[in-house]
Parts: sequence; C-alpha cells; structure tokens
Amino acid sequence: MLRSRETPHDLIDLLPPLERKAYDIISSKSREGGITQIELWRILGIDSKEGSKIVLKLMRRGLVVRKEIETNGRKSYVLTLPGHLLNKEDLPTLVNINLIEEIPCFTCSLLSVCVSSEESLWMTCPKMSEYISRIRK
Ligand code: SF4
Repeated sequence: MLRSRETPHDLIDLLPPLERKAYDIISSKSREGGITQIELWRILGIDSKEGSKIVLKLMRRGLVVRKEIETNGRKSYVLTLPGHLLNKEDLPTLVNINLIEEIPCFTCSLLSVCVSSEESLWMTCPKMSEYISRIRK
C-alpha cells in the first residue's frame, strides 16, 4: 500500500534487491503469459520456501498476481503483472473492444498499485492524460 506522496514507481524502487530481481523477471515474462513460480525460483537460485515469501510480498504490495493452472493433472502457479491478467475473452461481449484495448491501465504494470492507493493517482498519470487527449480529438 502506498503512503502519502509515494508514487507506484517509488514502491518498485524501494524493493530489496532479491524482490526487485524477482519483480523484473516477472515483468519481463508477463506479456508472454507469465512465468511459473518454479521457473522463477530456478532463475533466482532459491528454494520454494524463500521463493514463496518473495512472491507473497510482491502480491501483498499489488505488484504481481498469481494464477493457478493445471498441467497434466498437476497444479502450478503462473506469475504476471496485474495489468497483463486480462484476456480479450474475459471482457464482456457488449462493449467495443477497440476502445477498451487502448485504455493504458489494462497493460500497465502499476494497475493494482493505482487501484489500492488512497490517492487518485490516475489524475496525474501521463499515460492516462495522453489517452484522454487522444480520444477527445
Ligand atoms: S492510471 Fe492507469 S496507466 Fe496510469 S499508472 Fe495508473 S494504472 Fe497505470
């Protein structure tokens, strides 16, 4: 959760080194569908106990999300940035997908941080300002 005057970027910058490394790895894989927890722990060279703690901390801060998947009858977890969780198939069919696709928040890695903040961060967001200017033309 953000404190007054903190921006979502501050939250990421303040992460301890290993959490920051985990966040960066998840971020780099997020658009391709994410990374499994086991693969993340392998890349970081840590065990599941330490890896679970890191993932939970990132989730509590709203920086990553975890989705359960099942492969060959075995459950595992895939990690992505919050803004990459939505698929087109998940959206209602009665809305104009073309307009929605362009809203910057849907692909923004800071969506959960923005939503959980007590500040109205979207009001000062350059990406949102640019989007609103574009659709008003
Ligand atoms: S308002 Fe939307 S685009 Fe801007 S930082 Fe927040 S989630 Fe990202």
